Amino acid sequence: MAVSITPPKKTLENRETFEKLSPTSGENLGTFPIGTAEDVEAAVARARKAFPRWRDMSLDERFTYLQRARDIIRQEGERYAQIISADTGKPLVDSLMTELMSIPLFIDYYEKEAPKALGRQRLLPQLLFPGKTSYIEHFPRGVVGVISPWNFPFQLAVVPMISALIGGNTVVLKPSEVTPMTGELIRELFEKAGFPPGVVEVVQGDGSTGAALTAADIDMVFFTGSVATGRKVMAAAAEKPIPVELELGGKDPMIVCEDANLERAARAAVWGAFLNCGQMCVSVERLFVVESVYDEFIKLVKEEVGRVRVGCPDEACDMGPLTFKGQIDVVEEHVEDAREKGATIALGGKPMDGPGQFFEPTLVLDVTTEMKIYQEETFGPVLPVIKVADEEEAITLANDHKYGLTGSVWTQDRRKGLELASRMESGQTSVNDLVLSVGNPALPFGGVKSSGFGRYHGHEGLYTFMNQKAIMAAGGRMNVEPFWFPYGPKYPTMLKTFKSLLGGNMIKTMKHFWGLIRMTQKRD
Ligand code: NDP
Repeated sequence: MAVSITPPKKTLENRETFEKLSPTSGENLGTFPIGTAEDVEAAVARARKAFPRWRDMSLDERFTYLQRARDIIRQEGERYAQIISADTGKPLVDSLMTELMSIPLFIDYYEKEAPKALGRQRLLPQLLFPGKTSYIEHFPRGVVGVISPWNFPFQLAVVPMISALIGGNTVVLKPSEVTPMTGELIRELFEKAGFPPGVVEVVQGDGSTGAALTAADIDMVFFTGSVATGRKVMAAAAEKPIPVELELGGKDPMIVCEDANLERAARAAVWGAFLNCGQMCVSVERLFVVESVYDEFIKLVKEEVGRVRVGCPDEACDMGPLTFKGQIDVVEEHVEDAREKGATIALGGKPMDGPGQFFEPTLVLDVTTEMKIYQEETFGPVLPVIKVADEEEAITLANDHKYGLTGSVWTQDRRKGLELASRMESGQTSVNDLVLSVGNPALPFGGVKSSGFGRYHGHEGLYTFMNQKAIMAAGGRMNVEPFWFPYGPKYPTMLKTFKSLLGGNMIKTMKHFWGLIRMTQKRD
């Protein structure tokens, strides 16, 4: 049997359960509970009880727990990668690189940056507020609900969790039922790291468990998943109302210009489309190629696709099966719709024979804008290619879409690359690179349009989970302020102050302003 991790027996008692099947072989890997609304409410109550003590710890104290989590990931990385790969079907290299490695990177980054980002900031004095000092500070929201998807079940749960924990929030996680072993692994990680009871709660289950979490007594919900579920999460959050961050789907464009390094771009396109079997919100899902280099470029892409090794759990494989069985139907439907509307299926195009949820690496040429493969997220090992006259047509098409998560531009002219990157309607854009920007802890990540809103990673990734507070402190020695009562004869001087301020004459403004102060200090 493949490596597995199962929940404690007591969590299965008197509950509905579901079986986890291997995406690679179909074998049963374990039984998991479907958390009820009562389970969720109890977890939220424990998290709320734990909140004041966790909030009141110093940043340094909170980081001692995170450092332990980081050490566990370092020491047990190999076992963790095996469990994540068994759960998802992804290559071991991907489990290490895209799921595990980013966690220590984020913890290290935040250990340096959190004191700067979260410490009280003192602002420069301002003319109209003499004698006053202004500050901005942050305090945690409280109990944060994190709802995570199955495609990167470790990283997409743990990064928001640690970002929330650093600021002093407690967290209740609802992992996806598609990848419950990783959910169990996350519970184990935080338990082994010795987090105080209730600071991190994990409730396994299905969509009903997620819905129960959004309905429970939480202070914020951080959701990663599809647009359809994101709408429900936002509607539930609106009932209270509580803040919500939505990290949703993408249909990311890649633009290959005439002066691109074609070999680099071809290798990147194939990696960016087939990494994680294409089940990535930031996959290359629309590849625009200018016609002057189209034939040469497509030849290179075909050679690269031919080299992709499918068939995990083999250690040297590049691409595993689809993690979620239902995804095969979506991919087949999109390929079939494209074929019917005139696209050329140049390579692949169907599920592979034998056990497991494998699908051939698929290259689709002559894609047009009315095809499903162009309009909707495919979330599978399919690379759709669109021939364009020039970069202008490419950027216009890239932006004329409901999604806007990431994208990339390929040219050896740096200035042109940056200019096109700036014009792309997306949350992140790369030049001569792709996907890796997501793993850069310093860069804010999130979408525009239907790809969601809010940002995490970088300083924004801490602020997302914090309330902001502004403080203005006066010395308190003056008995009265110039804008207070009595107004009495102030109006003409107020008008002069107003006009000189708006006219930009600071010397006159100060003069009139002091006039106001003197008038206010006089009382009949
Ligand atoms: P889903 O929207 O199906 O599920 C996401 C999570 O929501 C799962 O834990 C799911 O539980 C849970 N859920 C289901 N119904 C509800 C509900 N009514 N209320 C609350 N929670 C609920 O997404 P997938 O798991 O299929 O993930 C794939 C999607 O995620 C793609 O669209 C992808 O692009 C997007 N994504 C976005 C990323 C980003 O950062 N922008 C990153 C990665 C993926 P269960 O699975 O148990 O049903």
